Amino acid sequence: MESDQRGLLAGLRPVRRALDIPLRRRATMFHDAADVSFMILPKANRLTPEQLAEVTAIVTEFGCNIQPIVGTVRTIYAILGDERDELMINRLEGLDYIDRIDRIQSSFKLMDRRSDLASHRIKVGGVTLGEELFVIAGQCTIDPKNPNYFYETAAAVKEAGAHALRGGVWKPRSNPYSFQGDTKSLDILMEASRRTGLPVDAEVMDEEQLKLALDAGVAVLQVGARNALNYSLLRAIGRAVAERKVAVLLKRSLHMGPISEFISAAEYIVSFGNPNVILCPRGTAPTLDGYRNHPDESITPLLKEKTWAPVVVDPSHSVGKASYVPACALAAVAYGADGLCLEAHVSPNHGIGDDPKQAVTPDVLGGLIAQARQLWAMRGPSKGK
Ligand code: PEP
Ligand code: MN
Repeated sequence: MESDQRGLLAGLRPVRRALDIPLRRRATMFHDAADVSFMILPKANRLTPEQLAEVTAIVTEFGCNIQPIVGTVRTIYAILGDERDELMINRLEGLDYIDRIDRIQSSFKLMDRRSDLASHRIKVGGVTLGEELFVIAGQCTIDPKNPNYFYETAAAVKEAGAHALRGGVWKPRSNPYSFQGDTKSLDILMEASRRTGLPVDAEVMDEEQLKLALDAGVAVLQVGARNALNYSLLRAIGRAVAERKVAVLLKRSLHMGPISEFISAAEYIVSFGNPNVILCPRGTAPTLDGYRNHPDESITPLLKEKTWAPVVVDPSHSVGKASYVPACALAAVAYGADGLCLEAHVSPNHGIGDDPKQAVTPDVLGGLIAQARQLWAMRGPSKGK
């Protein structure tokens, strides 16, 4: 037996005496504990305030909390805290308005494919993700000095078949002297949204930007690759989007290892109550020589096997060169992606940020969307395993 386990068992003795549970059984429960969690499913679509108060009072007695997770149709209730007490679960199961308590063994209990959220569907711009190919397109960076390029790009990506418009307002730049974005671009982004009727996606990197973006009506908050491991920001976003209809596009970090690291980053956001998180592979470091990053659209089936969350691949940052983007986009769809997030510009040479290198023209965008839809039709909706 490892010495830290011996220490744990010794520490459990008073607990065992107090609860009159055999030491070995209690220890096993504690051993599995990190990955076991419970979800309450009411008989109706949600608990009434009185029922929620009763359930909360019971779990509070056992040092736990309730986190409602508001799905499109049903609300489910995750028990947070040290939630393995059988007495607590028995009392909850005894309530006549509770259908059942689901036990799930996973380090990402809400994002897991076996979770009760698996039937949740995310809707953006009139598209229910998973039902048809979802496309976000637009400039890497909005140029506040030349807003017309953005307005023209917005109209052109709509015409090409995009369902949502992307536009960088604040930019994470490797060089502190490069253009960092400008809050004025938020007005341009929202004006383009009004003109086209498209919902918009923009990256936020701190709480001030988060508040500005939400107040302005940004529909999809983007967490950039550089911030996908910034747990304080993930928590702040989770808190801010709880009980709002907005979605979060979570890019995969350049430096994420196991697939669980990516899914757990999404769990941070969802654990606050909004399940509208979209996973976005966008290439990783170290790079594949010749490409900007190491393309990772091939992880899509793996993500689909582990989680119910939609996968929207970003081929633009993956390969980093406009001429490679269509092939990477089609590969993503072949791998089972639910959608694509692409950089596009009416005149890439006049763009800023990544646009001169990566942005495809509206013509190329239209062609690749048409081909991707054909591929989707051959492939059908991706259901994972
Ligand atoms: C972007 O979308 O322009 C961007 C900076 O993306 P990433 O965080 O994936 O690098
Ligand atoms: Mn970019």
